[in-house]
Amino acid sequence: MLRIEEKQIKEHLSAKAFRIVSEAADELQIEAYVIGGFVRDIFLRRPSKDIDIVAVGSGIELAKAVARKLGNKSHLSVFKNFGTAQVKMNDIELEFVGARKESYHRDSRKPVVEDGTLEDDQNRRDFTINAMALCLNAERYGELVDPFDGLYDLDNQIIRTPLSPDITFSDDPLRMMRAVRFAAQLGFYIDPDTFDAIGRNKDRIEIISKERISDELNKIILSPKPSIGFELLERSGLLELIFPELYALKGVETREGIGHKDNFAHTLMVLDKLSKTSDNLWLRWSALLHDIAKPATKRWDNRLGWTFHNHNFIGEKMLPGIFRRMKLPMNEKMKYVQKMVGLHMRPIALSDDEVTDSAVRRLLFDAGDDIDDLMLLCEADITSKNPEKVRRFLHNFRLVREKLADIEEKDRIRNFQPPITGEYIMDVFGLPPSKPVGLIKEAIKNAILDGVIPNEYEAARAFMMERAEKMGLKPVE
Ligand code: ATP
Repeated sequence: MLRIEEKQIKEHLSAKAFRIVSEAADELQIEAYVIGGFVRDIFLRRPSKDIDIVAVGSGIELAKAVARKLGNKSHLSVFKNFGTAQVKMNDIELEFVGARKESYHRDSRKPVVEDGTLEDDQNRRDFTINAMALCLNAERYGELVDPFDGLYDLDNQIIRTPLSPDITFSDDPLRMMRAVRFAAQLGFYIDPDTFDAIGRNKDRIEIISKERISDELNKIILSPKPSIGFELLERSGLLELIFPELYALKGVETREGIGHKDNFAHTLMVLDKLSKTSDNLWLRWSALLHDIAKPATKRWDNRLGWTFHNHNFIGEKMLPGIFRRMKLPMNEKMKYVQKMVGLHMRPIALSDDEVTDSAVRRLLFDAGDDIDDLMLLCEADITSKNPEKVRRFLHNFRLVREKLADIEEKDRIRNFQPPITGEYIMDVFGLPPSKPVGLIKEAIKNAILDGVIPNEYEAARAFMMERAEKMGLKPVE
């Protein structure tokens, strides 16, 4: 049972900021409530960051009065166009808004807003568990106003809309993504009527901006078990609309009695496994996308069965298109995901053969500082049900890790910059930027990675002189 004593609720409202809101609201003779996520999280015993205050009257006036009382320790920002205001004090942020009533037009998620009662305001909230309010006026301090039995749904771990789900979702289709996100974050179930309504309203997602959809996807990806969210997206029909490439991973084709694995199920397993060892959002994205090119590269080979040749490289190439469309960052974060997807086969391939120093050096050179992340991804990628296979992979991974540590210590390859630059080669041989310069540079790099010479200036210079002589080049005086 999540019910908690009135006394405990009051403890949660004991911060000076709440007392001041209470005083200010009583002086202005308006009702004030703390509402939404903060209230929900009290009952879930989760920490909560944002504090949303609803005033039955002007939220901005209440915020101004609160800021005046707090004096110069606080900072007030007013957003007149939105009818909202924010008061910051130390690490506390209070968001103020007047209770509102909203009506929607079909083609926009921007409602027509009018002043309303607390009940009107609670009606426009997304879920029953997010619609609970605690009164802050002195006479009713800490009283819970919970018209939709949000507390019952919290107890039973249910996501349910306060009004008819068809109205709630059609008014603002982002709420469909939020339903899935809360289910994933909290490990809750979506009430069947609410879930069915997502199926009926899924096409309305098209009026939502890509940025907002990606924000919710990021929150699903960062939740403790992201597969909950992706399975709900798939089952509701949303996934096909917002992320067709991921949806395409679903299913198994069989030929001559041989099927391949269901790459959607595999991907989610990898993502869940990785999520136990890393909360790096972009590494989690890499897990989600590591096999994204499997449908595009799938071939049947009479000798080998199902093959997915080069799916890592093709996947890497698909990412800019996906990131651009989904309005995900096109910067070094995308490049990192590309690198992970491109390299995700390498440690496994390494484990298949004998693990040579040279192969490990090359891996270290290509992965650089991201080598540890890559190893985490590859470990999560081992989802075989064959215990012998798993044992062998994990054993070989241990070997790879040991060698990585050895070589790292010996050769400092991780952020490898060859000790001889292109400019130096041009200087020594009086060359313009040209092919021979690139060839010499590449040969020095390979010699170091293959362990032919140590990663040092003198050795690299001697190697350069030798190689240049063979090419008929002479140093200028
Ligand atoms: P978290 O901070 O973990 O994301 P939260 O519930 O505080 O959870 P916010 O997005 O900060 O999420 O929203 C605060 C409150 O505003 C919610 O609890 C809910 O009552 C309401 N809300 C937010 N977005 C919507 C929406 N699209 N439709 C209806 N109500 C919403």
